[in-house]
Amino acid sequence: IERDALLRKKHGIHISGLNVPSPLQNFAELSSRYICKSYLLRNLAELGFKEPTPIQRQAITVLLSGRECFACAPTGSGKTLAFLCPILMKLKHGSKDGVRAVVLCPTRELAAQTSRECKKLAKGKKFYIKLMTKELSRSADFDKMPCDILVSTPLRLQYAIRKRKLDLSRVEYLVLDESDKLFELGFVKQIDSVVKACSNPLVVRSLFSATLPDSVEELARTIMHDAVRVIVGRKNS
Ligand code: ADP
Ligand code: MG
Repeated sequence: IERDALLRKKHGIHISGLNVPSPLQNFAELSSRYICKSYLLRNLAELGFKEPTPIQRQAITVLLSGRECFACAPTGSGKTLAFLCPILMKLKHGSKDGVRAVVLCPTRELAAQTSRECKKLAKGKKFYIKLMTKELSRSADFDKMPCDILVSTPLRLQYAIRKRKLDLSRVEYLVLDESDKLFELGFVKQIDSVVKACSNPLVVRSLFSATLPDSVEELARTIMHDAVRVIVGRKNS
């Protein structure tokens, strides 16, 4: 416990919530403390990721413990890996059970970037990782499409849910990335319909943000229960 506090202090990690799991000392702990297949550690090494960043140290173990997570850390601090790593570790891959993880990003560019990063991390494992393009949202027969992890913007996802009957009832992980931007851009209604569509009572929701405006705090309170709050650095830097 004392050691956890020291490690958090050293990396500027602030937490709130009960029974917060220990932060990672290093990536090797992914396989000593949790179950992590070798492909992922190999990919991290190949990408040149030697040490976890502060947000990764804490958000990864929170999500691996099955807790919901409300994470705030500056732009460029490695939030993408903080949510993708637990999803890749926990999700059954190559499944035909439909979409089981959804990452919502505010812009097409960010969605494309996130799905590319996800594919790099998943290299060597048969994960179905799909970017919701305009064509896909309009033409896909989602019932037949194998998809483990779906990355989308709010409008395209809402369109696919409404018009193409995309079924998100088996989603186990829902990530709202850059939730401050999702708000700024006025996607409250779309977020709401995505949260409703991910109707599995065991879904683990997480919210990642670079800043913590009241709107984001409010959303965190309304959609998450017993979430661990992880803040790195100052609240509004
Ligand atoms: P954020 O979402 O917080 O703005 P990103 O997830 O986009 O940040 O990461 C920023 C950059 O840092 C990316 O180029 C990413 O590949 C790199 N990165 C992420 N994690 C690590 C790490 N543990 N070590 C080194 N570089 C990393
Ligand atoms: Mg990001």
